[in-house]
Amino acid sequence: MTRHHHYIGGEWVAGCAEAPNVNPSDTSDIVGLYAQADAALARQAIAAAAQASPAWAASTPQQRFDVLDAVGAELLARRQELGELLAREEGKTLPEAIGEVARAGMIFKFFAGEALRTPGDLLPSVRPGVGVEVFRQPVGVVGLITPWNFPIAIPAWKIAPALAYGNCVVFKPADLVPGSAWHLAEILSRTALPKGAFNLVMGPGSEVGQTLVEHPDVRAISFTGSVATGRRIIAAAAARGAKVQCEMGGKNPLVVLDDANLAQAVEVAAQGAYFSTGQRCTASSKLIVTDGVHDRFVDALRARLEGLKIGHALRAGIDIGPVVDARQLAGNLAHLETARAEGAGAIWGGEAVARDTEGYFQLPALVAQTTPEMAVNRQEIFGPVASVLRARDYDHALHLANDTEFGLAAGICTTSLKHATHFRLHAQAGMVMVNLPTAGVDYHVPFGGTKASSYGPREQGRHAAEFYTTVKTAYLQS
Ligand code: NDP
Repeated sequence: MTRHHHYIGGEWVAGCAEAPNVNPSDTSDIVGLYAQADAALARQAIAAAAQASPAWAASTPQQRFDVLDAVGAELLARRQELGELLAREEGKTLPEAIGEVARAGMIFKFFAGEALRTPGDLLPSVRPGVGVEVFRQPVGVVGLITPWNFPIAIPAWKIAPALAYGNCVVFKPADLVPGSAWHLAEILSRTALPKGAFNLVMGPGSEVGQTLVEHPDVRAISFTGSVATGRRIIAAAAARGAKVQCEMGGKNPLVVLDDANLAQAVEVAAQGAYFSTGQRCTASSKLIVTDGVHDRFVDALRARLEGLKIGHALRAGIDIGPVVDARQLAGNLAHLETARAEGAGAIWGGEAVARDTEGYFQLPALVAQTTPEMAVNRQEIFGPVASVLRARDYDHALHLANDTEFGLAAGICTTSLKHATHFRLHAQAGMVMVNLPTAGVDYHVPFGGTKASSYGPREQGRHAAEFYTTVKTAYLQS
């Protein structure tokens, strides 16, 4: 059994315990043993990052470019191997997992370029003979806490900008999926980063994550995960004046209008709601369909779902892999029970099913004839479950789309330029898609939401500089 240590201060460090990383497609398959840290090890990693901070903050754009570009190139070259590991530990299908590794590689490449063009301004002062320079400096030590559903892409979109702008990193991946994170750390360990500029500590969020959130030397916290944990982190970070950025999921609507291309709308819904087992914060789990097309759309989507192959994530021809673990599967099944108890008129699929390996397999579920107040239309489920709401017309559909505490992504399928344009302006979401799945976004543009979905500056693209730098205004009298 391969053992995997923490990476602290440029050394591989054993933990106080070890935890197995279990394959959700086959629970007899243990991916490896991964070290667990406690608060003391987390503090050791923070101290290492603080010590490395002056050196990395003083690094040249070329040095930062070289590190990030090398990581990106290696991820791209090893996408097949690392994709297999990712599919094995998290359960998304192999093509999806390879795509995620490639995306992580492109994110590192993108931020290699950004390291060369850190934004700034040179302005004349309002006073004669005075110049004003506005430039960006690193924040210092940043704590990065990531969830299990994108084990390499989300770490990449936090680590790459953090390093590009000269910060030192303490990274805590989700305890369920430490394998991809560990390999990313191993790649970073072979670059020219100064010792301590990047640190990996694995272990429970309640101890390791909490230590990062509370430690005075961690000047910024970037988190992706549940609303409950995110809100606690926002309160704790704000209480000690640290920068904080949280991405906390959604209940993303997809509107289908009478004038939509039906085949396209069905594909957009199937891809957006069910692929990656629906375990995406951008999943379109609330389908809002206008009267004229409602019944045809539901019939066609059901037929599409019946054709999907659910099974072991590493097998060829599988469309949807397992749910990530027993707790998440039980939660999905409980949500369907609640929908039944609250009077949903029709529920197709959703059963836990057996395959020739012991895994957490679940059929995609479509819940129709629902009302807006039902839990299935209000709570993030984070599984292969979507509900359908019937709308009278576009205005009613837009109202139902915005009738949520969340605001991450929103989509519409329509051939009407008028409605597409109106929806892009009035959907209450950070990301809007027309005739495209809500899930599946580019790596070079901002990612994030409004309302309860996100807090703090946007992630990804040029906008990442907002969080990972602090602005200094310098005056000079000539
Ligand atoms: P959590 O929010 O608990 O976990 C996300 C990350 O935060 C993990 O690394 C976790 O560590 C860490 N963490 C947990 N508690 C603390 C803490 N007190 N301080 C600092 N860090 C902490 O989400 P779960 O994995 O438990 O998933 C629960 C639900 O959250 C899902 O069903 C889904 O609805 C939602 N979710 C949303 C995601 C999104 O992309 N927005 C992603 C994943 C989940 P550890 O892994 O050790 O618990």
